[in-house]
Amino acid sequence: MIYQPVKGTHDLFGEEMEGMRYIRDVFSATVELYSYRQIMPPVLEYTEVFSRGAGSSSDVVRKEMYTFLDKGDRSVTMRPEFTAGVVRSVVSNKLYATEDLPLKLYYCGPAFRYERPQLGRYRQFHQFGVEEIGADNARCDAECIIMAMQSLYMLGFQKLSLKINSIGDDDSRRSYRDALTKYFSAHLDEMCDDCHERIRLNPLRILDCKVAHDQEIAKGAPKIKDYLSEASEKRFYETLSIINDLGIEYEIDDSLVRGLDYYSEVVFEIHAIGANGTDYGALCGGGHYGGLVKELGGPDLAGVGYAMGMERVYGVAKEDGLLKDLDHGIDFYVIPVGEEVLDDVFNIVEEIRSLGFSCDTPLANVKLGSAFKKAERRHAKFALIIGQDELDRGVAQLKDLSTKTQKEIDLTKLEEELDHAIAPYEEEDDGCHHDHHEAVEEKKE
Ligand code: ATP
Ligand code: MG
Repeated sequence: MIYQPVKGTHDLFGEEMEGMRYIRDVFSATVELYSYRQIMPPVLEYTEVFSRGAGSSSDVVRKEMYTFLDKGDRSVTMRPEFTAGVVRSVVSNKLYATEDLPLKLYYCGPAFRYERPQLGRYRQFHQFGVEEIGADNARCDAECIIMAMQSLYMLGFQKLSLKINSIGDDDSRRSYRDALTKYFSAHLDEMCDDCHERIRLNPLRILDCKVAHDQEIAKGAPKIKDYLSEASEKRFYETLSIINDLGIEYEIDDSLVRGLDYYSEVVFEIHAIGANGTDYGALCGGGHYGGLVKELGGPDLAGVGYAMGMERVYGVAKEDGLLKDLDHGIDFYVIPVGEEVLDDVFNIVEEIRSLGFSCDTPLANVKLGSAFKKAERRHAKFALIIGQDELDRGVAQLKDLSTKTQKEIDLTKLEEELDHAIAPYEEEDDGCHHDHHEAVEEKKE
């Protein structure tokens, strides 16, 4: 029996793993420019964190959660999203009292939703996102949206479509909900079963319905913009004008309401179509939330955040050719010549690693030709060839695998020799990959 991964999950390795790691590094580096720091809440939370957090009317909570009783009969859920968990963590640890406000937190990791797997939609997927908690104004919302766009620009995306809407404050939404209930009640017998439930729980959710006929009906529904309170409207236009002033293009999409219950005021999504025309779905979704921190037992603090879908960002970025040559390979591949040198070579390899260079060796006596092939497949910059004669003389043959030039180096000055050899390559590095050797060097200083 050969086991397959659980439906809707996938293994990350090789090129895709490199790509996802690179995307995560670029996103982290970008949000760190905005003074964000990482947080890592657990995958498991008590179910209530999500049912209260994301809200019981959301599709995520109603249909998509991996919820089970643990052996102590407690209902726990594997996170379908991070925001509720991050806010729970902020409240449990009283971060709002011990750290400066606003808190600026980012996260990255797997999330789980029981959905129908398809292109860009998995049951285990990865999100990178941010939460800014404890500030409440248009500039703060705008900064968050700009940061999401900036993160994607940093990856090299050029054509992004930013969709924005305001779903207003509680008062705006209350009167809007009434208007929607009235409108959809008249069409309810034509609509799907889910929408029958949605109208009862939260008629806003109907606007998210994926059934074509229901979407047709929703087109004629009242628009939130006609129900915004004066304060919400003012705030929305302030946000837009800040974004506009930075030259970032956007489109106001008055059907955008987002699927989670905690949102209020501004909400947004970022879309991009791959170079071959593939639509993986929204790359990013986010918005402002008013009542969530309080709902989860904390003080009355507002927040704003977004989440990127890493698999979708990867899909479009790869199609657009933004993820080339990510495997920088290793620095040295050490080739022992003859059984008798294996012990000494083993020690030399360890020494090279302790100097902070990446290094590999076959750990066995292999033919020279096949050892060179291994070195190439690991994209080694150099091969270091060591036989008994070299050991006797305290030297090694260093071969640059791109220029094919070879020279003898002095093993008693190993660090100096390797530093010298690798120097031209370090200058080429684009700085996104954290280089272990550089880290070791910094530590020494
Ligand atoms: P969608 O409308 O595509 O279902 P959503 O509104 O449910 O998205 P959010 O809860 O806002 O998604 O999550 C933020 C981002 O996470 C999405 O924009 C998307 O990129 C990604 N995402 C959400 N669900 C999945 C999934 N099942 N598989 C892969 N990525 C996902
Ligand atoms: Mg969804």
